[in-house]
Amino acid sequence: MKFTKSEALEIIKQNKEVLSEELREKSLAVCRENFGNSVYVRGLIEFTNYCRNNCKYCGIRAGNRNVHRYRLTREEILDCCRVGAGLGFKTYVLQGGEDPGFSDNELCSIVSEIKTEFPESAVTLSVGERSKDVYREFFKAGADRFLLRHETSVEEHYSLLHPSDLSLKNRKRCLYDLKDIGFQVGAGFMVGSPFQKDEYLAEDIMFLQELEPHMVGIGPFIPHKDTEFKDFPQGTLNMTLVMLCITRLALPKVLLPSTTALGTISPTGREDGLRCGANVVMPNLSPIGVRRDYSLYDGKICMGDEAAECIKCLGARVETVGCRLDFSRGDSPLI
Ligand code: SAH
Repeated sequence: MKFTKSEALEIIKQNKEVLSEELREKSLAVCRENFGNSVYVRGLIEFTNYCRNNCKYCGIRAGNRNVHRYRLTREEILDCCRVGAGLGFKTYVLQGGEDPGFSDNELCSIVSEIKTEFPESAVTLSVGERSKDVYREFFKAGADRFLLRHETSVEEHYSLLHPSDLSLKNRKRCLYDLKDIGFQVGAGFMVGSPFQKDEYLAEDIMFLQELEPHMVGIGPFIPHKDTEFKDFPQGTLNMTLVMLCITRLALPKVLLPSTTALGTISPTGREDGLRCGANVVMPNLSPIGVRRDYSLYDGKICMGDEAAECIKCLGARVETVGCRLDFSRGDSPLI
């Protein structure tokens, strides 16, 4: 169901304090119609926390001197995949800062090694902004999907959240390039980020309807103590759920994770997300020793659980809301 901006804004305003049961049920029904009760599993590998950027909200931004920086070796990354494969995973998400320490060639060669060892599996990259040529190389190397949240679709807001060398225009250019090359593409945004207005969230829905991404990552903004946004309030559970519902209705076939950030602001946040039309979970496959250092925001959960424990815990959680973990690749039905 396509929304106009004023329709989206109206729903946001009506549900601002309390998400209506009607909206939630509608969104859940659309999710069930398209995906049944399957919740797809993606193994997240946080392979580097070095970053050249200085996004104002992010704990691993270049200017933060308090971060202990790490980079996984190629063998360590492959070991994470092996652990995942042992548990039945068929999707690996390599996420990191924009780390000049990994050349584009090096990343390509890591992707192709993963694809050689696990030909049945999908590889997703989440490594930030690159040229179209470089994205094409990643695709040729075997990467199937790419996550790059647009963060906000309002120019003025984008420039309040980012340093002046980053622009919404380039972010969007990247997303369209990725789609054009043939990636399954994930956009997305934070809910409750500093200076956000309801109208901006409605604008995010407009942008998503225009881009038609295969995946949309939506999570609450959570302040990090070493950023200039440390004293801003976190995004609310309610508003995040509202945005999940509207996104599901606007893009019925989209893959929509119930994010770790949602689980961080509320003990049952991820279950709530699944009751609002989310259908993906992303358990952490990173070595336990580095998880604390990949701190985008404060209070991140699942710091000390082995992947096997994580998946057991998640399996039990999804069952409480009538879903089941689905270990297939979970490709977008739009491709
Ligand atoms: N460097 C990659 C990966 C970024 S980290 C990239 O630029 O795409 C993944 C996502 O975490 C970001 O896109 C952002 O939306 C989210 N994030 C970063 N800091 C956050 C914070 N303080 N609270 C909530 N989410 C945050």
